Amino acid sequence: MLKILTSIVCILVSCSAFAQNDVKEDSIILKKIYSTSLLNGNSYQWLDYLSNQIGGRLSGSINAQLAVEWAEKELKKIGIDKVWLQPVMVPKWTRGVTEFAYIETEPGKTTNVPICALGGSVPTFIGGTKAPIIEVKHLSDLEKLGIDQVKGKIVFYNRPMQADLISTFSAYGGCVDQRYSGAAEAAKYGAVGVIVRSMNLRKDDFPHTGSMSYGTLKNKDKIPAAAISTNGADLLSSMLKLNPNIKFNFNMNCRTWKDVQSYNVIGQITGTTLPNEYMVVGGHLDSWDLGDGSHDDGAGVVQSMEVLRLLKEIGYKPKRTIRVVLFMNEENGLRGGKKYAAVAKNKGENHVFALESDAGGFTPRGFSFDCDTANFDQIKSWKPLFEPYLIHYFVKGRSGADIGPLKKEKMVLAGLRPDSQRYFDYHHAKNDTFDAVNKRELELGAATMTSLVYLFDTYGVK
Ligand SMILES: [Zn+2]
Repeated sequence: MLKILTSIVCILVSCSAFAQNDVKEDSIILKKIYSTSLLNGNSYQWLDYLSNQIGGRLSGSINAQLAVEWAEKELKKIGIDKVWLQPVMVPKWTRGVTEFAYIETEPGKTTNVPICALGGSVPTFIGGTKAPIIEVKHLSDLEKLGIDQVKGKIVFYNRPMQADLISTFSAYGGCVDQRYSGAAEAAKYGAVGVIVRSMNLRKDDFPHTGSMSYGTLKNKDKIPAAAISTNGADLLSSMLKLNPNIKFNFNMNCRTWKDVQSYNVIGQITGTTLPNEYMVVGGHLDSWDLGDGSHDDGAGVVQSMEVLRLLKEIGYKPKRTIRVVLFMNEENGLRGGKKYAAVAKNKGENHVFALESDAGGFTPRGFSFDCDTANFDQIKSWKPLFEPYLIHYFVKGRSGADIGPLKKEKMVLAGLRPDSQRYFDYHHAKNDTFDAVNKRELELGAATMTSLVYLFDTYGVK
């Protein structure tokens, strides 16, 4: 009995010594990762090229193709085991000439307001669609108004993002139905067009585009839809209060084409002892076309590339196979994410972990995780390792749109969560440009992602 007790004590002592050793070793590796990213990082230079030399990368555009070729070439340069392109058909929609809109208080008396077409919208009539305009706050308001009051008018959705929500993503989620389904709903009541308040908490002059859907509407029933800047929305609303008979005119010649060939870009470090367990880190290579897509999602692209480069740079050889996947067409179709998951399933690849960065290149705060309790408990045990880098936010929740289709039991999906207060100032707008991204914040994000990948590779998924 004494012998048994002695050996139990010995095991416990050696276990705790082992755990402490690991924590020490892990702290040293995390320090190396952060230092390398901040002293010798490459994410910012990559973003400079992607944003300033290529620019906005709407699916199916020449720029999107240039971004594919550039990413493939850059990944090959960092000397990982394998780099390849995964074909995927994507939608192609073009904006055409810059949109134009004005409020008409009486014939000949007009005030211009900034608008942009929503992604996927049909064009207005040539020369513009002009009609009386009616303001609503919710999609359900249309039912109360009825066909009589909506028919022949432009519907103006003007529900602002809720300012007292600390997560701006929650505020976005509470508003985006206006943009996504506003046109489909208004068309049912005979509206001739839709203007949507931009999803932006700040008052400014930038209209913010984004995807929309006509649902099951037939082509002949589709009506044009545009976003108006927050300042423009406030002006329009106050003018409507003074005179409900004002008219709105908007002119857009956007167009949807046949689907075209594009690619996900994939790079891989093959695992040493568990090569058949796959870990993915990624962002989306496509962007909207108004700015250069630096925050959404150039930042996530270069941070994901940097994860593999940093692991190589510090001489870490992962047990598991680690892939960077630069997804195509997140913004207006999610075709890349769906394709990657379908191919992985077909090949029987066992994906155990996926991490996406698609919330801007701002100061990282932590991650949100889509996983079971056992894995979340393990994640929480790593919190002290992240303390020195002011990474405190570890919650259960959503991960990322592109990695969502990979979801299965016994898998950890994660999303990098940077500070979100300024994200919607830039999201899908002309000012989402390279100068809006801070070098250190971007590099801290890349290091935070690399640290999580390192920890999951070292300890595995429960
Ligand atoms: Zn995005």
